[in-house]
Amino acid sequence: MPAVDFPEKKEIMGVGVHPLTLGEAVAIIGNWIEQRKDDGGATRQVVTLNAEMLFRAQGDPALRGLLRQADLVVPDGHGVVWAGRRSGYRIPERVTGIDLINSLAEAGENRWSFYLLGSAPGVAEDAAINLQRAYPGLIVAGTGHGYFDPAETPAVIRRIRDAAPDLLLVALGSPRQEFFIRDHRQELGAAVAMGVGGSLDVLSGRLRRAPALFRELHLEWLYRLIQEPSRWRRMLVLPRFAWTVLLKGRGGKG
Ligand code: UDP
Repeated sequence: MPAVDFPEKKEIMGVGVHPLTLGEAVAIIGNWIEQRKDDGGATRQVVTLNAEMLFRAQGDPALRGLLRQADLVVPDGHGVVWAGRRSGYRIPERVTGIDLINSLAEAGENRWSFYLLGSAPGVAEDAAINLQRAYPGLIVAGTGHGYFDPAETPAVIRRIRDAAPDLLLVALGSPRQEFFIRDHRQELGAAVAMGVGGSLDVLSGRLRRAPALFRELHLEWLYRLIQEPSRWRRMLVLPRFAWTVLLKGRGGKG
C-alpha cells in the first residue's frame, strides 16, 4: 500500500471529518491492516458519515463522542460534502461505504480476510458470494446476520474473534452498528471495523443501488425512498439538515 499523508479532521457542524479521496481512504485502511499483522492492538474504527448521522449528532453527545474517537470518518453523502464546502473546507469527494467495500475487496484480494456481520438472515452470505464472484481472490473469514438478541452478543463477538478477520463490516443500522464497534473494539480481534448500513443489502442483490443518473442529480435519497417507502419518516431529517447548514452560513476555513 502506498504511504498516504493522514489529513487532520475538519470540523463540520461540530463533527470532525477526514477530507480524503476514496483511494486515500483505501490506502490508509490497507496500511492499518498491514501494520496490525505485525503489532496487534485494538480494532480501528471507520465511520462513513451521512447527513442523517451528522444531523443526529447535533443533539446526541454520545454519538458526538464516538465520532470524535473514531480513527477515520469519511464523508459518505453529498450532504456532508456540501456542508463541509459551505464551511470553507476542501472536501475532495464523497466516499461511500459501498465504494469502500468494493475498493478494499479489490485491493486486498488474496491478502486480507473479510467478516460480514448484519442484515437479515442470508443477506451477508449472498453479499459474500457476490463479492467473491467480482473479486475471486477475496478471503471471507465468516458471515452472520444482524437480528441477534442482546444476550447473544458475546457469542457473536466470540465467532468474530475466532475468525480473526482483517476487516469487519457491520450492518446493524446506524448508529447502532457504530456503537457496537466502539463498545467491543478491544474484543473483536479485527484490524479494522466499519459500519456499512444498507450496503450488504445492495451487495446481496436485495436492494439496488441508485443508478448513476440519480447519483449525479444528488437524488439517491429519492431512489432509496422508492425502494423502501417505510423510510419516509427518517428522511424528514434531510430538509432539516439542509436548513441547519444554510442557517449556519460560512464558518471555518480549509
Ligand atoms: N439491521 C440489522 N439488525 C437490526 C436492524 C437493522 O441487521 O436490528 C440491518 C438491516 O437489515 C439493514 C441494515 O441494518 O440491512 C441497515 O439498516 P438501516 O436501513 O436501518 O440503516 P442505514 O442504512 O440507514 O444505516
